[in-house]
Amino acid sequence: MLFQIGNEQEALQSICKILTEDDEFRLAWIGYCEDDRDRTIRPVAKAGDSYVLERLWNSRGKTETGEGLAGFAVGTGKPHWINDISTDPRAFGWGAAAMDAGYASCIALPLIAHNQQRGLIDLRGTLNLYSAEREFFDDTTVKHYMDLASCLTQAVVALRDDLANDLTSGVKSLRASEERRRAEDALQTARAELARASRLTMMGQIAASIAHEINQPLAAIAANGSAALRWLAKQTPDLEEARVAISSVVAEGHRAGQIIESVRAMFKQAPQAKMLLDVNELVREVLTLTRSEIQRHRVVVQTELMDGIPKALADRIQLQQVMLNLILNALEAMDAVTDRPRVLSIKSAIHDSKGVQIMVGDTGIGIEPQNMRRMFDSFFTTKHHGMGMGLSICRSIIETHGGSLSASSSDPHGTVFQMILPTSVE
Ligand code: ADP
Repeated sequence: MLFQIGNEQEALQSICKILTEDDEFRLAWIGYCEDDRDRTIRPVAKAGDSYVLERLWNSRGKTETGEGLAGFAVGTGKPHWINDISTDPRAFGWGAAAMDAGYASCIALPLIAHNQQRGLIDLRGTLNLYSAEREFFDDTTVKHYMDLASCLTQAVVALRDDLANDLTSGVKSLRASEERRRAEDALQTARAELARASRLTMMGQIAASIAHEINQPLAAIAANGSAALRWLAKQTPDLEEARVAISSVVAEGHRAGQIIESVRAMFKQAPQAKMLLDVNELVREVLTLTRSEIQRHRVVVQTELMDGIPKALADRIQLQQVMLNLILNALEAMDAVTDRPRVLSIKSAIHDSKGVQIMVGDTGIGIEPQNMRRMFDSFFTTKHHGMGMGLSICRSIIETHGGSLSASSSDPHGTVFQMILPTSVE
């Protein structure tokens, strides 16, 4: 989806809508300061449980004149957030209404722009977000939403410049369309920011898994090293036992090195570098990286990898990212399953004379038929912390490889993703 901005109101409304879609936030509203003595902040766009906004509004009363979070944000030009509305004294007066509405955390982000030439303030407002989760905000999320707020500020200023030009010149000059493009670019950047954050979350999730993965060979190295010392310290040193222990040290050291190498390859930002790739090897690599995550979710893995499968022409790192995303989604989809085995099945096979296929299936909660198409759309998510970017990034990666990625329901439970990749043309 590309942002098409008609006017300021539409731009503000579209941002609020994106932020509340699929429950990322329960409520998002944007307020502008009025020029009255109290500097009242009036909502100009809102999405989510907006009936609650009226309640919040009434119970907040005069606090918007500078005492509430929105007031702090405008007054200081800095973000202000509360991670537990039920206990934070700053929520006094409006916290009860917010808790009734199911909000637990909230943030107010300044939208402030100064006009350098005229020495005036062009924009003075706040973007306010309410989440149902406690402790929703930390340094990373605050920085991310601040970036979003500053892109939005730039977009609004660009749109206003555009309008001012139209009014004074009376002509829809070329400049005006450039300004509009600038505004669209700024919102486009906001969208890219969201995508980046989603990848960061994904990487964060596996960072823990990698740390665990590396800890295992390290622990084995320490244990075998001590054993070797003990064999050598005996009155008659047992050289054979010491040799066996030291061989394990070497092997485990190599294993740790391999893990680090695959992590390094995975995160390296390289331009697409297609090569002939053994998809079975790729599957095994990603399974190694996600092993502890798979165990943590108490999931059993079943693989059916076809022997001698033709190689695919693909960028290894990009395909690792796709596999990783599909596996992590599958694990999450099985979290709620308690009455049947949680099975992650991965198969590889020949698709036709020009392609190979990889299937990633789970026995998870499955997908509602009406969501089957939408799940590949940007920002479509049914998760609280989801960004809804994973599958859309995966599909675009596979499509730039000349392949396809699709999903279907599996019988009797769960979902299966099918990735088709072209093989080399010889
Ligand atoms: P996110 O994981 O951030 O929500 P994705 O684009 O990866 O973003 O996934 C979009 C949505 O597709 C998910 O929120 C979920 O509803 C659905 N989905 C993805 N993978 C699965 C799966 N294996 N089983 C059921 N639903 C899934």
